[in-house]
Amino acid sequence: MLAGYAVQVQHSRGRRFSEPAHPYRNDYQRDRDRVIHARAFRRLVAKTQVFTRRYSDHFRNRLTHTIEVAQITRTVAGALALNVDLAETLALVHDLGHPPFGHAGEKALDAAMREHGLFFDHNLHALRIVEDFEQRYASFRGLNLTFEVREGIIKHSRDYDSAKHPDLSEYLLDQRPPLEAQLVDLTDEIGYNTADLDDGYEAHLLSLEQIRDGLPVFERFFREVEKIYPDAPDKLQFNEALKRVFNRLVGDLVTNTQARLKHAGIETLDDVRQHTGRVAAFSQEVEAERQQIKDFLYENLYYSPSLAGEKDDAERIVTELFAFWMNNPSALPHYYEEKAQKESLPRVVCDYIAGMTDHFINEQYERHCGTAR
Ligand code: MG
Repeated sequence: MLAGYAVQVQHSRGRRFSEPAHPYRNDYQRDRDRVIHARAFRRLVAKTQVFTRRYSDHFRNRLTHTIEVAQITRTVAGALALNVDLAETLALVHDLGHPPFGHAGEKALDAAMREHGLFFDHNLHALRIVEDFEQRYASFRGLNLTFEVREGIIKHSRDYDSAKHPDLSEYLLDQRPPLEAQLVDLTDEIGYNTADLDDGYEAHLLSLEQIRDGLPVFERFFREVEKIYPDAPDKLQFNEALKRVFNRLVGDLVTNTQARLKHAGIETLDDVRQHTGRVAAFSQEVEAERQQIKDFLYENLYYSPSLAGEKDDAERIVTELFAFWMNNPSALPHYYEEKAQKESLPRVVCDYIAGMTDHFINEQYERHCGTAR
């Protein structure tokens, strides 16, 4: 039984091109399957999440991160009696538009575009992938996803000004997205905040002492774990403490969102859409802890000197390759060269680079710009 404020698949605004109903999958289940079968989804396996070079096969890449976010999202959506199929689809698609080399690659690509008065936005890029670049079906371009999935792709993590984005006017920019989409921004945070602590510790870039000193929420649980498992190895005590942090974040997101729904008197999807702000949220206390983990990771992991070299490499590779193709459009693959006849060259070069895996862009760099990394 879905809550009154959940999205109901039978009330979907539908697809761009109507298709006959499937005998045993609803439209959001079909959308989920289309995302999983997309080429862009498979490429996530070779895109960096945090660690640019392979420290170990055990670390997250963008695909395993995506699967973790989908798992958290299913749990939270289920607990809130939301539409789990839609929420899961939105989680699976949420990082589809990410360029190679994680955050550094995205920044460099955006900077290169800004030189031409344009910009790069991974949500908008994900929409272009599912609307245009994926070609699997004979009757239409793209994946022909339902309205709610396309809306969630752009609106899950930020709001877009309707005056600045007339191209997105069909996506009800003056309304809040459904809760299924609102959740994904927060489950994404839970996913990477806890996973990056885990991988950072495993990579010896973060020490146990550092984490205990820097994160009171972790320290509280760690002391509890030490009492229960005094003889367990550090790594297992770490795991047990991190698991408790994880559960605290997930549990709080569920109970606090429930409380906010009740407090605001939200009963229908329309109430969610018309509400002054987003309803899915952590409590004040846990929100502060979440922010603390994020700040800690920025300070001690993302901006750590050990990752700085790779960041510089990423920036240089994206910037130089972008310039190379701007100066040598005839060196683009035929498909992109043809596209450049109809669209602006910077946009076409950006699309090409954004779709690349780390592996492929390194290869391209070697070929066109010389030095191997
Ligand atoms: Mg993500």
